[in-house]
Amino acid sequence: MSRVPAAFEPAGKAPRDGKKFALRFWSNTHSRGMEITYSLVEKMLHVAAPLFKAIGYERLEKPVAAVEATIKGALFDCRMCGQCILSSSGMSCPMNCPKNLRNGPCGGVRANGNCEVYAEMPCVWVKAWEGSKAMEHGNKIMNVQPPVDHRLKGRSSWLAVSRGAHE
Ligand code: SF4
Repeated sequence: MSRVPAAFEPAGKAPRDGKKFALRFWSNTHSRGMEITYSLVEKMLHVAAPLFKAIGYERLEKPVAAVEATIKGALFDCRMCGQCILSSSGMSCPMNCPKNLRNGPCGGVRANGNCEVYAEMPCVWVKAWEGSKAMEHGNKIMNVQPPVDHRLKGRSSWLAVSRGAHE
């Protein structure tokens, strides 16, 4: 029987095997450095807000989302949910969980820390916990996240942060 992809899983994209090198796992292992970078990017986005507003957020949506998808796709296997919570999930993108859990892990984590659905893939939320332990504000992982809003799928989180929509 063919596998049914999760809502945020790009067609034909195989789940990450933890034994093979992937930037996603590197970013998670270097979560403290990513946290510092993320906070700098956030500050820059706030500074740029008046410029973005003058140009028009809707006009910027498509090009900025394309850049964001490329950079975060490489670094985090970002699925462009449009409401980024990387800084609250140890720099491990929750949309790579086949159940798309925003508050994890589920009860099915294997004894070796891998996903119950994709046996070769380390559980996204086990990785999130590990990443959070190295971060200065890693306790944000304790915050209960609202359900994912599917209407925002494909939209830029960066522009949303600049607008103050995610604060
Ligand atoms: S939480 Fe959303 S925006 Fe952030 S990396 Fe994951 S899919 Fe991309």
